Amino acid sequence: MTDQNRFEGNKAFALEMDSKDELRNFRDQYHIPKKEGKDAIYFCGNSLGLQPKEAAGLVENEMNRWQDLGVEGHFKGEWPWTQYHKAVVHPAMDIIGAKEEEIIHMNTLTVNLHLLMASFYKPTKDRHLIIMEAGAFPSDQYVVESQVRMHGYDPETSIVEVSPVEGETLISTDQIKELIRKNGDRTALVLFGGIQYFTGQCLDMAEISKVTHETGAFLGLDLAHAVGNVPLKLHEWGVDFAAWCTYKYLNSGPGAIGGVYIHEKYATDPTFPRLAGWYGYNAATRFLMQKKFQATPTAEGWQLSNAPILSFAPLIASHSLFQQAGMERLRNKSVRLTSYLTYLLDSIPAKERVFEIITPRESSARGAQLSLFTDHQGKALFQYLSERGVVCDWRENNLTEKGVGAAGVIRVAPTPMYNTFEEVYQFAVFVSSFCGR
Ligand SMILES: *Cc1c(COP(=O)(O)O)cnc(C)c1O
Repeated sequence: MTDQNRFEGNKAFALEMDSKDELRNFRDQYHIPKKEGKDAIYFCGNSLGLQPKEAAGLVENEMNRWQDLGVEGHFKGEWPWTQYHKAVVHPAMDIIGAKEEEIIHMNTLTVNLHLLMASFYKPTKDRHLIIMEAGAFPSDQYVVESQVRMHGYDPETSIVEVSPVEGETLISTDQIKELIRKNGDRTALVLFGGIQYFTGQCLDMAEISKVTHETGAFLGLDLAHAVGNVPLKLHEWGVDFAAWCTYKYLNSGPGAIGGVYIHEKYATDPTFPRLAGWYGYNAATRFLMQKKFQATPTAEGWQLSNAPILSFAPLIASHSLFQQAGMERLRNKSVRLTSYLTYLLDSIPAKERVFEIITPRESSARGAQLSLFTDHQGKALFQYLSERGVVCDWRENNLTEKGVGAAGVIRVAPTPMYNTFEEVYQFAVFVSSFCGR
C-alpha cells in the first residue's frame, strides 16, 4: 500500500498528521473519559462510542418539554413526539445509503433482527436454510437458532455456517459465494454481519447481495460494526433488510435506539407480512383506533410502539456530527489512522511480537478496528495497556483452529471522529515497550 511508505514512526510525524487533519476539531464535540486526570486513549468506539457534548442538552430538552407540556408534547414543537422518529431519518440515509421510506429507528438490535426475520424468514420444506458466518456475535446466533426452532425446523440441519478454511482465521467472499450457490435452491435467508465483530473483517456486501439474489433467497445484514464505520450503499446493493445499533460507532449511548432498513420493494408494500403494532398503522388514520391493521407504506409500517424519546435524543446530536463530518471524509481519515496503526505495530521486531494482526490488511476489507490475536501474554498486555490509560477490549479466543497457547483477541478501534494520530502513536509505543520487556 502506497500509504505505508509515507508513514514515519515518530511523534513529530504523528503530530504533523494531526495538524493536517481537517476533522481534528470534531474531537472537541465529545466528552473524552479521563484516566488519572488525563484523557484516556479511547479505542473502544466499536463497543460503546463516546458521548457527544450536545446529547445531554437534547435529552434535557425533552425532559423539560414533558415537564411543561405533559401529553401535549406529542403534538407540539418542532419535533412532536409522534413525529420524533422522522428527525433521524435524513442523516441515516447518507450513513447507510438508503431512501427515506426504507428507514425506521425503533427498539434495539436483537429485537429488530427478530422482527425482520418474522417478515423475511419464511421457511418451507424445500427452502428452509439460513446461511451465516460461523462464530457470529452470540446474540445473532441465538436469534437464528430460536427462529429456526419457532418454525419447527432443526438448527442442526437448517443453519449452514461458513468457517475459515483450515489454517486461516478469515472467511473469503469466494467461499461465501460458493456456499450460497451450492445451497441456493434450498436457502431461505442469507444473513451476515457487514463487519465481523471479532476479526474486524469487512465483507463484500455488494457481491454477496448479487449472488444471494441469483438464488432467490433474501439477504439480511447486521450492521452493528459497519454503520458509521464504513460507507454503505444498501439500496444500490439491493440488500433486502438490515439492522444496526447506534451506540457503537454512532455514539448514541448505552442501549440507544436501533436502526432498521427495509428495501423499498417490501417497505412500500403494506401487505408484506410482519408483526404489527399501532405505530406501524397508517399515520393518517392511526388515531381513529380502528380494527384491522393497515400498514404505513414505508419502513415505518414495522414500528410497533410509540418511540422512546429519551433514547432517541442523543442520536440526533450524533447524527448531526456525522452529517457535518461526512462519511467520505471520516472513512478517508479512518483508513489513514488504522493503516498507521498497522504500520507502527508491524515495525515491532517479529521475534518480540506477542500478537498477530488477524484483521485483513487491505483497507477495503476492514473498518476502523484491528484485532490483535495474542498468545498467552495477551491478558497481561491488555492489563499493561489499561494501566497506561488505554481503553480497548479483550475477547477470549473463539478461533479454535489456532490451538494451544492462543489466548484471545485485543480489539483496537481508533475512530476518525475523535481519535488522533498521536494517540495511535502512543498506543504503539506502549505495545512496543511491553513486547521489548
Ligand atoms: C453489538 C452487537 C449486538 C448487540 O445487540 P443488542 O440487541 O443491541 O444488545 C448484536 N449483534 C452484533 C453483531 C453486535 O455487534
